[in-house]
Amino acid sequence: MPDHPLPAAPPGSPARSGDPAPERALRRRLHARGLRFALRPRALPGRPELVLPARRAVVFVHGCFWHGHGCAPARAAARFNAGAWAQKIAANRAQFELDCDALRAAGWQVERVWECQLDDASAIERLAARLLRR
Ligand SMILES: [Zn+2]
Repeated sequence: MPDHPLPAAPPGSPARSGDPAPERALRRRLHARGLRFALRPRALPGRPELVLPARRAVVFVHGCFWHGHGCAPARAAARFNAGAWAQKIAANRAQFELDCDALRAAGWQVERVWECQLDDASAIERLAARLLRR
């Protein structure tokens, strides 16, 4: 782990390359709980990573730095990059609020998993339990 974790992508480019192993592990865990989903539907606001049509739920997987998570690695990166990308992060957060409003107004349950939670089995279990209650 570097002292100052830097974001992998420059501002304006997608935060993640698409199908990293931790995301696949998340999908495996949810699938093992009987949850069925589609990947990255284009028609929904914000293009959530997973959509569960049967439960009318969506799951976003958010990079901690780009979406301003309060976790230690994201705070350290934000300090290190003081101000440089704050505007981009603020815009991402504002856009996510708008996307959430639109999705909820259309009856979707919106869930978010932070990058730093992808390896946390208990966090994923809690997510699965919330989705299964739908
Ligand atoms: Zn985080």
